[in-house]
Amino acid sequence: MQEAKTIYVTGGAQGIGLGIAHHLLIAGHRVVITDIDEEALSAAKARLPYSEYLLALVADAGNEQQVSKSITQAVSHFGQLDGLVHNAGIADPFHGPMENLELAAWQAYLNTNLTGAFLCAKYAAKHLRKQQGSMVLMASSRAFQSEPDTEAYAASKGGIVALTHALAISLGPDIRVNAISPGWIEVGDWQKPARQQPVEHRSIDREQHPAGRVGTPNDIASLTHYLLSKEASFITGQNFVVDGGMTRKMIYAE
Ligand code: NAD
Repeated sequence: MQEAKTIYVTGGAQGIGLGIAHHLLIAGHRVVITDIDEEALSAAKARLPYSEYLLALVADAGNEQQVSKSITQAVSHFGQLDGLVHNAGIADPFHGPMENLELAAWQAYLNTNLTGAFLCAKYAAKHLRKQQGSMVLMASSRAFQSEPDTEAYAASKGGIVALTHALAISLGPDIRVNAISPGWIEVGDWQKPARQQPVEHRSIDREQHPAGRVGTPNDIASLTHYLLSKEASFITGQNFVVDGGMTRKMIYAE
């Protein structure tokens, strides 16, 4: 059993972030989840185990004051900070035709997905340094390949991959920084009740993955847990694609 750590997870009330919080709590860690959706935070608190090791805070990952305040609250509540997971994101990659994309919408993607990572890193660094801690930033396989009408999302995730190696160089050897690029992760059953959807995949969906299935939040959570652990102490500045092999498969139209 690893030593118990305190891990701060943005966007932790639903989806992959909720899966990460669940996995870390089961593994015996203390977890701070932040989110902008208060209803989802209440549902997450009711769903997650070991409530005495959980702190749930309303905070917008793209808002400097809220990030700074929530990190301070996390440290005063649990006494230390060992890990940061910037997972919050505008997760829908599709924004419509680029010629119609409003600057404000472009900036909204960049603000939550990328600037949020910078803000969390900036305010968590001094606490993580004391603990020889680690960061995991959530990118996407869309940092490396695209469908039409996804420029803002793709750019925000490409930025995460670059920010990861920049931070790893600036903050090492005290703090390690890595990115995970999920492929298709099914989060339908990891939503607040009002957003839950029945999960059904077609055989064509499964078959486009060499692993034979669509991903789950636990696929991302288990790697996150490993990267935050001492076992990963020689790994920094890297990006890990976790997509069941989907982006390695060549597809020609029939
Ligand atoms: P989700 O929508 O299920 O959950 C995202 C959570 O983040 C929500 O609870 C939402 O309220 C919260 N959030 C949104 N903006 C926020 C902000 N500014 N501050 C704090 N919280 C905020 O999404 P998901 O599918 O679990 O995605 C999580 C992360 O993984 C995102 O960064 C997404 O881009 C990335 N990702 C997801 C997939 C996938 O297939 N699900 C694939 C690649 C990458």
